[in-house]
Amino acid sequence: MKTGIFGGTFNPIHIAHLRIAEEIRDTLGLARVIFVPASVPPHKELADNLPFEHRFRMVELAIGTNPHFTVSDIEAKREGKSYSIDTIRRFRRLYPDDEFYFIMGSDTFVDFGSWKQYGAIFCCCNIVAITRPGAVVPHLVEALPVDVAGEFCYYENENRLSHTSGNSVFYVAGTQLDVSSTCLRDMIKAGRSVRYLVSDEVEKYIKEQRLYLNGN
Ligand code: ATP
Repeated sequence: MKTGIFGGTFNPIHIAHLRIAEEIRDTLGLARVIFVPASVPPHKELADNLPFEHRFRMVELAIGTNPHFTVSDIEAKREGKSYSIDTIRRFRRLYPDDEFYFIMGSDTFVDFGSWKQYGAIFCCCNIVAITRPGAVVPHLVEALPVDVAGEFCYYENENRLSHTSGNSVFYVAGTQLDVSSTCLRDMIKAGRSVRYLVSDEVEKYIKEQRLYLNGN
């Protein structure tokens, strides 16, 4: 089965997250996308210190009954920082017959060289980067960490890199939605409406739980 793994802080999950997952699922013919909220994000401060449970619940509410989407608490079950290499290896052990596609925005991909064991990640699974407004990737090869660039072969007509492991790096030109969790948190703090930028269920949950109002 072709399985997408979509990691993020989801603080909160917004419409661009959902649309990215859907566009990549559709483009690459994935059977499912597993959303994986980070417990302790290694690459950024967790804004408002929002506990994993709230972020996980909002993902659950956002994906609703979509049969192709699920959410995993795999990173909450591990101590310490939530490194993606550990998550991918765990999924590979859990589902040995699956072919994995690790999903990220282009802003994350250009920073990939700072990730723990990024070279091993290329060996373990496919990577799918999708365009994010403000994070232009001029050429896929140039966005690769320099020390591993020689391990790839570029297929221009597919905008795909093929790795020596047999895995690929795909670059998908998605719908550009200029939405971020940062912007949503700021809007909520300012008393502004976030309707239609998050799902109705997520909006309701944020209000009920009074999230993001006082740095909680
Ligand atoms: P924050 O504003 O708190 O930094 P975020 O909006 O970037 O959060 P994350 O949960 O950190 O959301 O993102 C998870 C993944 O989704 C990352 O790989 C990120 O690049 C990608 N992503 C988030 N928003 C977009 C968007 N609007 N377009 C494309 N990719 C996105």
